[in-house]
Amino acid sequence: MNYRHAFHAGNFADVFKHIILSRMIIYMQRKDKAFRIYDTHSGPGFYDLSSEEAQKTGEWLEGWQRVKQAHVPQVLEPILAPWIEAVESATEGYYPGSPKISRYLMRPQDRLSLYELHPEDFEKLHALFKGDYQTKVLNLDGWLAGGAHIPPKESRGLVLIDPPFEDGHDFDRMIDALEKGRKRWAGGTIAMWYPVKKRAHTDEWLQTLRDLKFPDLLNAELYIREPRAPGMLNGCGFVIANPPFTLERELRHLLPWLADTMSQGKGSGHRIQNLSQ
Ligand code: SAM
Repeated sequence: MNYRHAFHAGNFADVFKHIILSRMIIYMQRKDKAFRIYDTHSGPGFYDLSSEEAQKTGEWLEGWQRVKQAHVPQVLEPILAPWIEAVESATEGYYPGSPKISRYLMRPQDRLSLYELHPEDFEKLHALFKGDYQTKVLNLDGWLAGGAHIPPKESRGLVLIDPPFEDGHDFDRMIDALEKGRKRWAGGTIAMWYPVKKRAHTDEWLQTLRDLKFPDLLNAELYIREPRAPGMLNGCGFVIANPPFTLERELRHLLPWLADTMSQGKGSGHRIQNLSQ
């Protein structure tokens, strides 16, 4: 386990992922009934942008910093607001990870289950949520969440799956998690983040998902440059089972703007697809 998210915190992929996460949580707030969020690959939860790791790559300068400095069109203001508030609630110079963003948007009745396997990142995460009765921090394999740990007693909620894609098997593990997750919790939202390097590779995986013929499966992708070079993170995507019905419309406003704002070259753009058709 070599992957450390501290090198990438606040980059374009985090911006994309965390805004969409915030939109899914805002939608769940429409009903008073409690929900649970499972974050299967949590990371340490909080990032110092002046750390050696963040300074080494400077990735947040092309992500969070660009968005923060950009002019936000009026139609996007309410879409971005919950995520911006969550980020700005952090101490100046820090960027919150998915656990902190989820936690910021939860109400007193909601619950959060966090999984992190790396010993150091687990310790940081554990310390961050010490004494928080709404949050459970587990030093366990997050792939278990899609199996034995769902459905939650709250019956409403979301599973965020955001693995490191280190060993080449995470695309297969995601398909497995989605199949198990849907069987055990048909009404839960399952959101799976993935990297886009070469589009042809991603398309093959998306076809496998289409062939499963799951109802209500949405795919959204953002590219910061043409997704052609296999060795580079040129974009990223989210496959979402049971997305909020409001999400696709929001993404149609959001993604063209994000692609322009965080573009790093020719071929930046986005794609939104229904994988159930
Ligand atoms: N979701 C985080 C966010 O948005 O702020 C970033 C997570 S990072 C991409 C992936 C994390 O998964 C790393 O911290 C890594 O240590 C952890 N990890 C890797 N394999 C895992 C596993 N099987 N179970 C739980 N965590 C794992």
